Amino acid sequence: MTVLFSTHAAYLEHLAGPRHPECPERLDAVLAGARRADLVDALIPLEPVAASREDLERVHPKLYLDRIEIICARGGGRLDPDTYAGPHSWTAATLAAGAGLTAVEALRRGQSDAAFCAVRPPGHHATRTESMGFCMVSNVAVTAASLAAQGERVLIVDYDAHHGNGTQDVFYDDPRVLFVSFHQWPLYPGTGRACEMGSGAGDGFTMNIPLPPETTGDRYLRALDELVAPRVAAFDPTWLVISAGFDGHRDDPITELGLTAGDYVAITRRVVEFAPVGRRVVVLEGGYDLEALTACSAGVLGVLAGVADRKITIDGQERATSGGPGQRELDTTIGLWRARS
Ligand SMILES: [Zn+2]
Repeated sequence: MTVLFSTHAAYLEHLAGPRHPECPERLDAVLAGARRADLVDALIPLEPVAASREDLERVHPKLYLDRIEIICARGGGRLDPDTYAGPHSWTAATLAAGAGLTAVEALRRGQSDAAFCAVRPPGHHATRTESMGFCMVSNVAVTAASLAAQGERVLIVDYDAHHGNGTQDVFYDDPRVLFVSFHQWPLYPGTGRACEMGSGAGDGFTMNIPLPPETTGDRYLRALDELVAPRVAAFDPTWLVISAGFDGHRDDPITELGLTAGDYVAITRRVVEFAPVGRRVVVLEGGYDLEALTACSAGVLGVLAGVADRKITIDGQERATSGGPGQRELDTTIGLWRARS
């Protein structure tokens, strides 16, 4: 199988601030992962097209977008305590939001079997009306909203270590999108309790899986099998979008989960099975240890290309983990969902 690999030089021009963990070097680390994956013949470069105002306004109000665009045009400024926009950030943000849309179009033309979008800034903390957590535009939501508007059923799986509060906010009452988030709890931004399951017509279309520090990969696989798979089967998605944050890696400097690159491989392998070949889009979110970003990106690209386990280079340190905490929390979450049915 082949994989569209989407990135853009303009992403490097977005500077989040001095010594900020969300730095341009993160993208270099992902590119190093693409090289390490050794998929020379399988990776197809794809240049993203910036999201149009129409695409962005499916998710964010016009005035919200105008404000960020104006701040950037005037040289930049702080949008929230940890989110800074510079003069080039608007261009980067619209290209990041457009990456998934461009990938969907290319996949629809049958150009490839999956897409990996290496973007900056990330998007999953941006709510409809608030920039936060290094995010300005809700990248994954822009892609999912476009697909939903075309009658598709979209599954979003967010395995960034932080709760995807922005994506949740956008689709909380929307049954066209099933949003599943794995995240460390408690942790920034403070949302994502298991009891947050959607509202109104969207009740039951948000699934939060909070996990304690040092949770190992086997707990994720159990959650996917026992909790996520039955819900996904009932939803029957036509597209899959993964919010791929690699800050669940145990070396990440700002979180405390216990995953390795081998775990990300195993988890992603399960998740991609939820949607048909040719309907799988991966979008980069967080991940702040550069070596972990390289190893995880290489592994996930290998999965998308359908490379067999033994051929994905995972050294000893990065083997899949098991036996850590998370079992009790998972029991509680599974119990909550069983009580609904
Ligand atoms: Zn994160």
